[in-house]
Formats: sequence, structure tokens, C-alpha cells
Amino acid sequence: MNFEDIEQVAVLGAGNMGHGIAEVAALAGYDVAMRDIKEEFVDDGYENIEWSLGKLADSGQISQEEADAALGRVEPLVDFESAVADADVVVEAVPERMDIKKDVYAELAEYAPEEAIFATNTSSLSITELSEVTERPEQFCGMHFFNPPVRMPLVEVISGAHSSDETLDAVEE
Ligand code: NAD
Repeated sequence: MNFEDIEQVAVLGAGNMGHGIAEVAALAGYDVAMRDIKEEFVDDGYENIEWSLGKLADSGQISQEEADAALGRVEPLVDFESAVADADVVVEAVPERMDIKKDVYAELAEYAPEEAIFATNTSSLSITELSEVTERPEQFCGMHFFNPPVRMPLVEVISGAHSSDETLDAVEE
């Protein structure tokens, strides 16, 4: 997957980090599917994005039109398959537990397009171990945002043992 070909981003988890990552991706012009396990969690994440975009517009950092357009690019979803079926990049921000993340990646590998890049927002878990749950460990890396993503331009791109240069370059761009 090349940077130029990336149009659709899926974010798994709509919590503290997930909703913020979805907001940043939408502001950058990507269509974003944001997935959580319950309707109320995706709704909370969506409302948090709406609130944050409103603050950016109120303070003049973006226009109201840009805020509305960014919100319009975010689709909150519970169904896993619909959230990732067209994704070019999937950013995972589910709870910091190896067992939960491994279950998510096993399911993700089944539903995501073959060429999609998987990026984990983990702060401390092994990128290599997580990547090996999938059959595409070369298309897997860390993409570690800081909280809140919309106000923290720093993102760490972390290589696992199998991450390809193509994957790392696309994620960095
Ligand atoms: P959080 O608890 O706020 O959000 C996690 C969300 O994932 C919850 O809404 C939960 O319902 C959801 N979830 C659980 N299982 C899921 C599944 N199978 N599919 C989709 N969603 C699922 O946690 P957070 O603070 O956003 O942290 C998420 C990740 O980001 C962790 O790996 C954490 O280490 C990392 N991180 C956190 C921070 C921070 O400051 N909070 C900073 C950098 C990285």
C-alpha cells in the first residue's frame, strides 16, 4: 500500500485515543470508519469528535465548514466487517491488553482487504508479537499517537521485526 493510494481509514476503538485518531484522520481528508463494540461507545466517541471540532471552529483554528466536512467523513460503526471491509489503513486503539488486541487482529485479518496496512496505537505491547497473529506481519507497524491526538502533532512510527519499508514509509507520510 502506497501513501497516494490511501483513501479510507478504519479506527478500532472509539475511546480516548480512538476518537481522537479518527478526528485527526477526518481533518486530514480521509473517510473514516470508527468502530467500537457497543452503540453507546461509538456514539460517545462521535459526540467527542463533534465537540472537539466545534472547539477548533470556535477558536478560529478551522472554519465551521471544515469542521462540518470532517465530521461528515466519520462513520461510527459497531459491525466489524463493515468498518474494515474497504479500509486502506486500520489504526487499532482498543484496550492495552495483549489478549484483546490479539482477538481483534485475528478477526481483522479475516475481513480487511489483503493490501491494507495495520497500525497499532499500543504504548507498550510487542509490535512483533501482535503482527504475527496476522498473515501480513510486513504490513504491520506501530503508530503511536499522543493524547489528545488533535493537539499533539507528534506520532511515533514503530517498526516491528517484520515491518516492510513500504509500510513504514506510507504510515510515516
Ligand atoms: P480506552 O479505554 O479509552 O478506549 C478503548 C476503547 O476500545 C473502548 O471504547 C472499548 O470499548 C473499545 N474496545 C474494546 N474492545 C474492542 C474491540 N474488540 N473492537 C473495537 N473497540 C474495542 O483506551 P485508550 O486510552 O483510548 O487506549 C487505547 C490504546 O491507545 C491502548 O493501546 C493504549 O495503550 C494506547 N494509548 C493510550 C494513550 C492515552 O493517553 N490514553 C496514549 C497513547 C496510546
